[in-house]
Formats: sequence, structure tokens, C-alpha cells
Amino acid sequence: MQSYISPWPETAPKPDFPRSVVLLGSTGSIGTSALKVVEGHPDLFQVLALAGGRNIQRLAQQAVRLRPPYLALLEQDAVPRLRALLPPDYLPEILTGPSAYDTLAALDQADMILSAIVGAAGFRPTLAAARAGKVIALANKESLVLGGHLIREACQASGALVLPVDSEHNALFQALAGHGDDSGIYRLILTASGGPFRGRTREQLRGVTRNQALAHPNWSMGAKISIDSSTLMNKGLEVIEACHLYGLPAEQVHVVVHPQSIVHSLVEYLDGSQLAHMGLPDMQVPIAHCLCYPRRVSLGLERLDLARAGTLTFEEPDPEAFPCLRLAKEAFAAGASHPVVLNAANEVAVDLFLHEKIGYLKIPAMIEAALERHTATAVDTPEAILELDRETRRQTADQQ
Ligand code: NAD
Ligand code: MG
Repeated sequence: MQSYISPWPETAPKPDFPRSVVLLGSTGSIGTSALKVVEGHPDLFQVLALAGGRNIQRLAQQAVRLRPPYLALLEQDAVPRLRALLPPDYLPEILTGPSAYDTLAALDQADMILSAIVGAAGFRPTLAAARAGKVIALANKESLVLGGHLIREACQASGALVLPVDSEHNALFQALAGHGDDSGIYRLILTASGGPFRGRTREQLRGVTRNQALAHPNWSMGAKISIDSSTLMNKGLEVIEACHLYGLPAEQVHVVVHPQSIVHSLVEYLDGSQLAHMGLPDMQVPIAHCLCYPRRVSLGLERLDLARAGTLTFEEPDPEAFPCLRLAKEAFAAGASHPVVLNAANEVAVDLFLHEKIGYLKIPAMIEAALERHTATAVDTPEAILELDRETRRQTADQQ
């Protein structure tokens, strides 16, 4: 299979600077890091739209600074509150509801879309951007887990391009540069920090709390991905993401735990060479790499000093304590509909855990049960995917 992100396809748009950008999920962790990049390089970007979910306060603060012509939020009821926080001489168009994000993702004037909504809600806007032929800086890995096949087809039909923001996949993209012919790849090696519970046995995970699970050692991220990192489901979703991005089967995507988060991933070639991408962990680096691609810009961040970093260590993930990685690989191997079920059950279980309704070990148990209940179905359309997503959420919540 041919990857659609490497090399830069001839047909793909190569927007000039300044680039007109739509930031979906601007109020989140990735969104705020992206705004640091954008606001640090005002000559390179024009912000066309900012889209948040329910955090009106933060959306208003961002909008006041950047004054984009379009804003989006989830609830129509919140529009007057948002307007009240904006100066009287600034009258952006405010779109609401799930379809608002699809509309913004396909705006004619947009050169690049940052897809940084969390969860399955990011799927439709990512697909809309792919259909509209945009350059997509993709943080929302769930959209590839749900419908990587549809996004790939849409990119191929429209000439859209996906650039991976996820640090591991961005590292792979960089390590693949100049190796557009993917026949020389032996395997991809994704690094995982191991999260806050690295080294614990399954038994020692039984009583862990929400706050312990949220305390990631190296990265500061949104709540959902922080829990996913602690269970290694994040790495499982990333294996599926890598398979879609680089057109490889799951057996060619290996995972190694690397607690220092300095080596962000590696490509191993047939001759045994392994090319790694390294740097201090800060999401501004992969975000800037995508938003400015192929240009490199200075970010004013602390630089990696290997002598100070000292020892870099690597170890195998523990499959007993962290079954989510196996569940994700099995789901991907089982067919296109299983990853949809995996993702939906995970989102429900993580949400219940965050609300302290279930214990930590119930997260993998609920996902495994949902996968066991599922029989493969056709997911050839976005509607079929979203219907399966809804149905799985309903069943998983009922089984709680
Ligand atoms: P976050 O929770 O901090 O932010 C999520 C954003 O999405 C917010 O702007 C929120 O308002 C918006 N949102 C939430 N639900 C929505 C809905 N139903 N409709 C529209 N908007 C909605 O999450 P994050 O950590 O920034 O992660 C965003 C995405 O990026 C996730 O898919 C995650 O896996 C991926 N990612 C994050 C990181 C990271 O360091 N945070 C790294 C790699 C990949
Ligand atoms: Mg990642």
C-alpha cells in the first residue's frame, strides 16, 4: 500500500505564506499549543476560524486576540454569552452544533485545517477537510481509527494531504523524509513513555485514582488522552493511526517503552538502519512542523542537550498490566468495524472513570466485552461508522 503523506504528493496543495488556517479544537491542549506557534509567527498565518467546544471563556479570549471572521462552538444557547465577551466592533460569524466544524473544515478560503477536537467528534470534520482537498494537520488520531480508509480515499480523490501532528507519527514522517518509496521499510517503532503507572503490576493498578492516572510524567495533555496514555490505549490507537498513515499491517508497527520521551519514534529500514527523531517533549514542535511544512521555524523552546539528558532507556511494554495495546492491535486485525467499537467503548469507559463511576481495571474490561459482543459489519460510509459508534456507546453504557 502506498502512504498518502510521504512523499509530499505532486497533486497536494502547497499553500503559500501567509497561510489561512482553521483551528478546530482551539481551546484544548493541542489548540493552545498551536496558537502559541501561530501567534509567534504572525507573518506566516492568518487565522480564519477558531472552533472550541464548551469553553466559551477561553474561546472568547482567543477570539479577542486574533479576531478571526469565523468562530464555532457546540451549543447555540451559549452564543449570547460568547458575543457578550467580544468587543462591539468585532462581529464574527458564529456557527454552532456538530455540523459547524464540518463547514469550517471545508471553507473555500482555508489553506490548512488543524484537526484537534478530541475523540470521535473529530471524524466528520477531518473527513470534510479531506473531501475539500485541504492540507490537514492531524492531531485527532481517533478519526483515522474510526474511518482511516474513508479519509485515505477522500484524500486520494481530492488531493488533500494529511500531515501528522501526533508526536510519534510526526517523528516517523520526519524519519521517512527522502524515503518516499516505502519498499525499503522493515518496520516502524513507536515509542511510549509508559505513562504514570509504568512498572506496576495489574494487581497494583486496581485502586488507582483519577488524579493519579491524569498525572502524566512528561506531557501535559487533555484529560482523555492522559487516561489513554496511562492505560496504553493511546499507544494502541497510535498503532492503528500509523497503519493508516503509512499503509502497513500492525505486525510491522512495533512499540517500545522509552520513559524519557526524547526519542519520539523510529523507522527501521531493510538494511538494519534505524532513523530516530529526537527532541525535548513539547507538542509545539510537531505542530509547527505541520503548520509550516516544509519550512522550519524557530520556536524559542529549550533545546535538547544530550549530555544533560544522560541515559536513555528502552523496555518492552507489559501486556498483562496494560491489555489495551493488545486489544487495539487485535481490533485492527479483525476488520474495519472493530476499531470503531474499540474507540467508542474506550471513550465511554474513560469518561465513566473520569467521573469516578468505575474503577481503573474496568476500562480494559469494558472494551474487551464490547469487542467480544461485536460481529464485523460493513463500515463503508461515514453514516455507518457513526451509527456503529452511537450503538456501541449505548451498549457499553448499559453494561456498566
Ligand atoms: P483537549 O480535551 O485538551 O481539547 C479538546 C478540544 O476539542 C477542545 O477545544 C474542546 O472544546 C473540543 N471539543 C471537545 N469535544 C468536542 C465536540 N464534541 N465537538 C467539538 N469540539 C469538541 O484534548 P487534546 O489533548 O488537545 O487532544 C486533542 C486531540 O489531539 C485528541 O484526538 C488527542 O488524541 C490528540 N493529541 C493530543 C496530544 C496532546 O499532547 N494533548 C498529543 C497527540 C495527539
Ligand atoms: Mg502521541
